Amino acid sequence: MANYESQFSGIGFSYDSLTATGYNKINGISFIVHIEPSSKDYTIYAACRPYDQNNDSALSADLQKFASERQKIVKNAFFNGKQIIICCPLNFTANIVQGVNEAVTSIMNLAGIYQCVPCCSVCGRTIETDIYTAENSVIAMCTDCFSSYQHKMFNNMQTDAQTITNYPMGTIGALLGGLAGAVIWVLASMMGRISMLAGLVSGFAGIYGFKMLGKKLSASGIAIAAIISLCLLLAGMYIATGIDLFNTFKDYGYELSFSETLECIPYALEDEDYRGAFIYNNIWGLIAYTFSVILTAVQLNKEKQIKNRVFKLM
Ligand SMILES: [Zn+2]
Repeated sequence: MANYESQFSGIGFSYDSLTATGYNKINGISFIVHIEPSSKDYTIYAACRPYDQNNDSALSADLQKFASERQKIVKNAFFNGKQIIICCPLNFTANIVQGVNEAVTSIMNLAGIYQCVPCCSVCGRTIETDIYTAENSVIAMCTDCFSSYQHKMFNNMQTDAQTITNYPMGTIGALLGGLAGAVIWVLASMMGRISMLAGLVSGFAGIYGFKMLGKKLSASGIAIAAIISLCLLLAGMYIATGIDLFNTFKDYGYELSFSETLECIPYALEDEDYRGAFIYNNIWGLIAYTFSVILTAVQLNKEKQIKNRVFKLM
């Protein structure tokens, strides 16, 4: 994982780690660089526009030229009427210093040529901008636009505060999600496979099931969902073991009912070899389950930190 924070600070940019965004103000123009590892690129936004609107098309043409001259390091460059946007591919080393520097230098050049002035990237007025967080993004906007964002977030927060967790429905959601994992485990083991997928589904689906039907997720909700889905996954593992044992008995000519077979499992586990195989068959599912619960909790915590976040960065 590339250390973007130090890369940005090396070129005088600040960095917001929650949104993977660098930002800076140069000669009154707000610059925002957003990194998008999933699409393997990063985008540079400069909140400015030509003072004379008649120069818009000339600026666009120059940006197009800038991109076509650097096809390997620039995906595209354009002016959207409110801001200059340059999108670059993330290279293998995820080093963005050179790309950002080059883009900023070129933009400042063009800004000089076309007498660009600061422009709010929300309302599009040519007005001084500051850099703000707005939930999962960083935006250069004017104080009026910031006020309306703030108002919207405040309303959201009030609505959130009034929403109460519906624990019975949340529990049902967790049961359904956990059940999916258990069913996958039983089906996979009937086909003679060990399914890490079942463990992953149990954790993810259990917690998201709770969130969907329970309307809201707290730490206690995560704990309830994790326990329910784990119990169901264990039940799935027990049933899968029972099916396996049932078939083994049948092969040896013992006609036991399925419930009798289930009762035999604790005795079978006293055998060291059988116990070893049992642990081997189930441990990966449990590891995958633990992994998915931790990952989901981390992800939800991040979402929570970003939610309703609106304040001035610079
Ligand atoms: Zn505005």
